[in-house]
Amino acid sequence: RRKWKKMVKVLEELEESCGTPVGRLKQVVDAMAVEMHAGLASEGGSKLKMLLTYVDKLPNGREKGTYYALHLGGTNFRVLRVHLGGQRSAILGQDIERQPIPQHLMTSTSEDLLDFVASSLKDFIEKEGNGLEQPSPRRRELGFTFSFPVKQTSASSGILIKWTKGFSIEDMIGRDVSECLQQAIARKGQDVRVAALINDTVGTLALGHYNDEDTVAAVVIGTGTNACYLERADAIIKCQGLLTTSGGMVYMLFHIFVKCQGLLTTSGGMVVNMEWGNFWSSHLPRTSYDIDLDVASPNPNDQGFEKMISGLYLGDIVRRVLLRMSQESDDFGPASSKLAVPFALRTPLMAAMHEDDSPDLSEVARILGEVLELPDVPVKVRKLVVKVCDVITRRAARLAAAGIVGILKKIGRDGSGGIAGGKFRSDRPSRMRRTVVAIEGGLYTSYTLFREYLNEAMKEILGEEISSNVILRVMEDGSGIGAALLAAANSASE
Ligand code: ADP
Repeated sequence: RRKWKKMVKVLEELEESCGTPVGRLKQVVDAMAVEMHAGLASEGGSKLKMLLTYVDKLPNGREKGTYYALHLGGTNFRVLRVHLGGQRSAILGQDIERQPIPQHLMTSTSEDLLDFVASSLKDFIEKEGNGLEQPSPRRRELGFTFSFPVKQTSASSGILIKWTKGFSIEDMIGRDVSECLQQAIARKGQDVRVAALINDTVGTLALGHYNDEDTVAAVVIGTGTNACYLERADAIIKCQGLLTTSGGMVYMLFHIFVKCQGLLTTSGGMVVNMEWGNFWSSHLPRTSYDIDLDVASPNPNDQGFEKMISGLYLGDIVRRVLLRMSQESDDFGPASSKLAVPFALRTPLMAAMHEDDSPDLSEVARILGEVLELPDVPVKVRKLVVKVCDVITRRAARLAAAGIVGILKKIGRDGSGGIAGGKFRSDRPSRMRRTVVAIEGGLYTSYTLFREYLNEAMKEILGEEISSNVILRVMEDGSGIGAALLAAANSASE
């Protein structure tokens, strides 16, 4: 059957172009480490922005009191309250409220969006009086998790660089995110101070470090993807806002370095928000489906790594492959199906098809029928559908693993001795310390096969021995709780 063969060929070509043998993953690891170095060395030196966060000390468990957090950045919006008892790992209690962000607000005005945020906070606080606990007499302190690229101006303020993940609110770009929120809170008549402005990954790292001092990096793989890590002060040779591009480089760099050192006070390090969703390397296995998805997106040429890895996109890559297959064969059913509709197949449903273990793939049939309006797809074609989901998810998980190892390589925790001055120091044997990477996001926590592929690739790249010292630890709601922890840390130090 010629048509069947053509469909199989689409799958074979996909497998071929999505290949991630360990050699290729190691090239991605090296590229990530090199790009990190370049992004730190100069502003605009890499697609990785390597944003300084001004977070120079992470929570240590001694934080005490009641703190609030808002988390805005993906599919769901969250308001939290965290009670801290002052002893490590003793988060006494937490209350979390989640709600989906109304679609129209994602492309409205900053005032509309933040009024929604502030009014959710107000409702949340007003419900307190009904509970057992007394409302706090003093001004409330809040951490704001805002998971978009922000150029920080302090630990509690920063300017929005650009939107990602389908958000687009022009009037907010270039403005101080904290100030916008603080004004919205004031409009609602609330006495709440924005004491920390952080990226979600930084929150995940903060909670990770609160729970385990060996935590050195954090990764979020949800609607979008990003990572941050703790960098040594002497490796941060740029200081945003202080670095100009004109001559006298050596002399100037020295001065910038000194100024940076002044900033990096207590611990001699600072958390760097990599914005790794924008990572790019010629070693990434890219297909025509990725290119088409990128061209059709609101941010073409941007967030290339994110578009291969995160929840907003995986379902749509699969949809594009299935559409291609359906054009080769009428086994898929009517051409009038939803297959041609962008984002008709969401990642959680793609995952459900992938993980369908019924003998006749009845869940695959149900989703194809109900969601994509493709009734009566034969079992052998359903098997191809599952295979497509597998290829796309496996590639995503393995690339994410390579990204994580790239970070470990940069900080010398991959067993190779790290890099200095852009050169690898493989000659320096180093004993491997216990290393924890905090991880969060629906893909890792809710998609079992994704998690298994990622863990497996970590082992393949690092080898059994070294990978036994690297622990990926899930931090449930870390991005929100971490913001409250950092608000506590910032309030205590004033
Ligand atoms: P955020 O939207 O803040 O990133 P999450 O980290 O919870 O929130 O990630 C949600 C994303 O994770 C969704 O957009 C979805 O793509 C993906 N996701 C959630 N559950 C699953 C699942 N069971 N299988 C696959 N992907 C999932």
